[in-house]
Amino acid sequence: MQKLLLVRYGEIYLKGQNRPYFLKTLVSRVREAVRDIGGNVWLHDARIFVSGVEDMDECIRRVRRVFGVHSVCPALALEKDDFDLLLCTAAEMMEGLEGTFKVEARRSDKHYFLDSPAINARVGEYVLENSCGRLKVDVKKPEHVLSVEIRDKAYLYSRVIPAVGGMPVGTGGRAALLLSGGIDSPVAGYMIAKRGVELVAVHYYSFPYTGPQARQKVLDLAQILSGYTCGMRVYVVPFTRIQMEIHAKCPDDYTTLIMRRYMMRIAEIIARREGAMALVTGESIGQVASQTMEALNATDQVVDMPVFRPVIGFDKIDIIREAEEIGTYETSCLPYEDCCTVFTPRHPATRPKMEKILAGEELLAQEELIEEAVREAEVIDL
Ligand code: ATP
Ligand code: MG
Repeated sequence: MQKLLLVRYGEIYLKGQNRPYFLKTLVSRVREAVRDIGGNVWLHDARIFVSGVEDMDECIRRVRRVFGVHSVCPALALEKDDFDLLLCTAAEMMEGLEGTFKVEARRSDKHYFLDSPAINARVGEYVLENSCGRLKVDVKKPEHVLSVEIRDKAYLYSRVIPAVGGMPVGTGGRAALLLSGGIDSPVAGYMIAKRGVELVAVHYYSFPYTGPQARQKVLDLAQILSGYTCGMRVYVVPFTRIQMEIHAKCPDDYTTLIMRRYMMRIAEIIARREGAMALVTGESIGQVASQTMEALNATDQVVDMPVFRPVIGFDKIDIIREAEEIGTYETSCLPYEDCCTVFTPRHPATRPKMEKILAGEELLAQEELIEEAVREAEVIDL
């Protein structure tokens, strides 16, 4: 008898001819997640299995957060021909439980000597007899379900633990995430990564206005995200000179917007270098002056790739809830200054005029500034 984790996937089921590709990627992602705890991962008969780990709780914790995994079930595998052993194991598994139950058999081995209804009946009867009256059968709305899957072996499990869902990272292409030290952008990155997208993070760093602690905070956030994405590359782009120039030469109420246009331009260059096809930001309509519809339009116009803003329709409170859920909230709340807050004008334009933006930008040596920032960027692989 072998203890293992049976891993079930969700949306990949809907894939047709591409399913093997998605499954292969998912297996790789699960393998990476359990590699350093000694997990042995394989695919058999449309199921992924993990065996060989000593600490099953840790294994569950890790596999549950692999994008593409729908649920995990701690299971026992036994030789399917020993039906008496199967019955005893089933009864042991249900020991200590009370209330209603049913057995749910699935048989991919169509030559097995019993069909699914017969397995249900035989196993159900045995469990019932051995439960000393604590269990009752209810096939419609049972409190407990004992699953019996007859494949190369018999797999028994009674716990189905929900997992994160989504699609395996790497199946959805690449995108560049503009990662600030705030609450919103890590959540935005998480949401896009969950759809299978690999991320490269871009952070704008205004030393000495923002210090090493602020930089470290962003790296810590990227590290948390990389736990979901199996690693991540981070570009830390020096942004002080650009901000100083904008501050010195452009109208005060337009500085934030012009700065954001520079962020987008630089992110696009990095994205293309990294084979990424879209940008991701944590913007949400109306949250701040640079996130009015007009301002968002003005920032979009400087790039020639889609800009994804997955939290665009979220209230701040919803974003916070999600940040807590994914484990970035506490780090995001550390009090170090961000480059935007340092140079924030008192009255930023909420209905910016394109002529005024362009007139401001005319005064800047755009190409040189951007070229320098990209050249001086620090690249960190997490
Ligand atoms: P967040 O929105 O992540 O909470 P924030 O509120 O400080 O951080 P905003 O001013 O709302 O950031 O900026 C909107 C978006 O612009 C961010 O979600 C992020 O995608 C991007 N951004 C802002 N500042 C930076 C930065 N220093 N480096 C990289 N991206 C940034
Ligand atoms: Mg924000």
